[in-house]
Amino acid sequence: MPRIAKVVVDIALDREFDYLIPDHLHDGLRLGSRVLVPFGRSESRGYVVGLASESAFPSLKTVKQVIGPKPLVDEPVLALARWLGAYYAAPVEHAIRAVLPGAVRRAGAGFKEQLFVSPVAEAAPDEAALALLEKRCPKQAAVLAALRRDGGRPMAELTRELGTGAAVVRALAEKGFVRIGRETAERDPFARQVFLPTDPLALMPEQRAALDLTRRAIETRSPPVVLLYGVTGSGKTEVYLQAIAHVLDGGGGAIVLVPEISLTPQTVERFKSRFGDNIAVLHSHLSEGERHDEWHRVREGKARIAIGARSAVFAPVRKLGLIVVDEEHEPTYKQDESPRYNARDVAVMRGHMQACAVLLASATPALESYFNAKRGKYGLAVLPRRVDNRTMPVMRIVDMRLEAERVGRPTVLSGDLIEAIHRRIDRAEQTMLFLNRRGYSTALICRKCGYVAQCHQCSVSLTYHKSVDQLHCHMCGAVKSVPGACPECRDPAFKYTGVGTQRVESVIAKVFPHARIRRMDSDAVTRKDAYREILGDFKSGRIDILIGTQMIAKGLHFPNVTLIGVVYADLGLHLPDFRASERTFQLLTQVAGRAGRGEVQGEVIVQTYTPFNTAIQAARRLDYEGFCDQELEFRRELNYPPFTHLVCLTVKGASEEKVAFSARALSKALESALAGNRVFLSGATPAPLARIKGAYRYQIMVRGPSVRAITPAVNQAVKASKWPAGVSCSVDVDAFSLL
Ligand code: ADP
Ligand code: ZN
Repeated sequence: MPRIAKVVVDIALDREFDYLIPDHLHDGLRLGSRVLVPFGRSESRGYVVGLASESAFPSLKTVKQVIGPKPLVDEPVLALARWLGAYYAAPVEHAIRAVLPGAVRRAGAGFKEQLFVSPVAEAAPDEAALALLEKRCPKQAAVLAALRRDGGRPMAELTRELGTGAAVVRALAEKGFVRIGRETAERDPFARQVFLPTDPLALMPEQRAALDLTRRAIETRSPPVVLLYGVTGSGKTEVYLQAIAHVLDGGGGAIVLVPEISLTPQTVERFKSRFGDNIAVLHSHLSEGERHDEWHRVREGKARIAIGARSAVFAPVRKLGLIVVDEEHEPTYKQDESPRYNARDVAVMRGHMQACAVLLASATPALESYFNAKRGKYGLAVLPRRVDNRTMPVMRIVDMRLEAERVGRPTVLSGDLIEAIHRRIDRAEQTMLFLNRRGYSTALICRKCGYVAQCHQCSVSLTYHKSVDQLHCHMCGAVKSVPGACPECRDPAFKYTGVGTQRVESVIAKVFPHARIRRMDSDAVTRKDAYREILGDFKSGRIDILIGTQMIAKGLHFPNVTLIGVVYADLGLHLPDFRASERTFQLLTQVAGRAGRGEVQGEVIVQTYTPFNTAIQAARRLDYEGFCDQELEFRRELNYPPFTHLVCLTVKGASEEKVAFSARALSKALESALAGNRVFLSGATPAPLARIKGAYRYQIMVRGPSVRAITPAVNQAVKASKWPAGVSCSVDVDAFSLL
């Protein structure tokens, strides 16, 4: 019998504490249980992350109380959390926090609580005792029988169904046969929606092959991971749906991860229509109560499939048979605070730990995944064609340098693009214009002295938002009014340079005064329903031209859109990031996928100042593999991922001097700690975004053959460093953003 509980307390401390388990709590306390423990001079809540029979510490405090009838974290998820902490160099309690949605952790406050009755397994009466109970108190016997059959039940439901009073249940609790706790009542976020059921489609031969390979992975884990590379509209989703149906047939459950931005009503509907109530949606747009309930439906096994963004990878799905990661290349799968995990990689690890298959899918798989497939680590399935052989859109590149020469100044819209939009309006077809930057102009510049309006606490220029006539910092959200004259030289004439979605909108409105235009970016979509509303209007043809940021680049499916304009393709190309080229290729390909999903062939017009860039050219030729092979060569030569793992350390603080000093000291320490490990160390340099929210930032990049070759030394060096007050260091393993 374990006598010791290892507890991680909510108050952030990177440690496990040992507590004695008192006798009366033995029954209820498990791995993953929520507990109340004495801590310091007061008490704290925490999670049991381990059980032991002995402790290295002589005098231990005692667990005060077990909260809730069942542990919130089951053992497989707990194991995953431990791995998460170790791999991503994060404190245990951060890892535990990551695997439990906030709504679940906070449950209790503000919810409709109800009494919940569950049988105590350890105190199950034997035959003789049952017979006696049957004879003396038949009502109690009936309640107990029902509970042992169904597991826990809400008190109200139980007494109603059996026609007994609560007193009967309480009597059973006094005998120790059942436990009465508090749980929250369930809400169904989709209660008022009707989903028309759909049947599986007859698959195309390539889809069939992809499904067969996935089924093999599900049954034999050989291969353990399948990479499904399929162009947009090639029917990948239908493959997931049928693979999941297969898992359900075998009595298992599944997780589907989609990027937050693609978790649209459209997407949810496709899954709901096929699987009905069997699917739970874990979505940040739901109310806290709804999120809590959906999670519990999964934990109780009432929903066997969980669909959601990043954190759904931790969903407590029972008998997990398959994890699907849609758009597996998406940077948003990476969490940008501790633990800085990548949900795709966690999915692969969870698959490994729980012997379940993993299906990674994308129209532009990440180089890491492509590389794993090429060297045989993952199985590969390819869907090269669109369903029904619909043609891929034609992509045209417009050289904006020539355009500027022709017009005499840089322009927002080329003649080609304007003409193409005209044709669409004449034919009552729709256009989407894409620009991954909101606001009106990117910078306010003084023509005379060259002063650029910058955020006073971030090293980025402020973006002008015309609708509110203000300057916004897209880094920290600071808002400033537009100065009447240059703060440096007092010249009153400013110039707005660079283009944002608002500027595109106003140019379009001038060129097409009769067109119906809408803009969709995070400025335009502040209300919860605005997103749905705009998409609804677009779908029903009440909008001719939709202008937007990446919000419109993903997963949307409109048959009447026959033209996509990429206003400025170079935006992401010049970032100091070795993935800049890959990102640009992915983005162009994804955006192009929105065109021509109906009967008419689609057209994509890409405006650029670097028309011969390899990413842009490869996207035009629809040449994913060619692009990857070339890019892999480059990465191999320079020892970048996927040939190495990259760990990025960021040292931050208000004093630049202290930050620089600490970063250099850390870099020195790492140099000696990592010597001989085939590890590349960059040395401490100011980060590309040298200042955010007033904090100076220095970076150290470490690349090595494996994370294990890097993190132990990094952890140790970070712990051993003497950090001056106000200076902190964060560690990002397999970093995505290097800014
Ligand atoms: P992807 O996920 O690759 O972008 P989808 O699964 O969304 O592609 O498929 C695009 C469209 O083709 C959808 O409308 C889908 O219902 C349809 N579709 C998929 N597979 C088939 C099939 N085998 N037969 C007919 N239509 C299909
Ligand atoms: Zn700022």
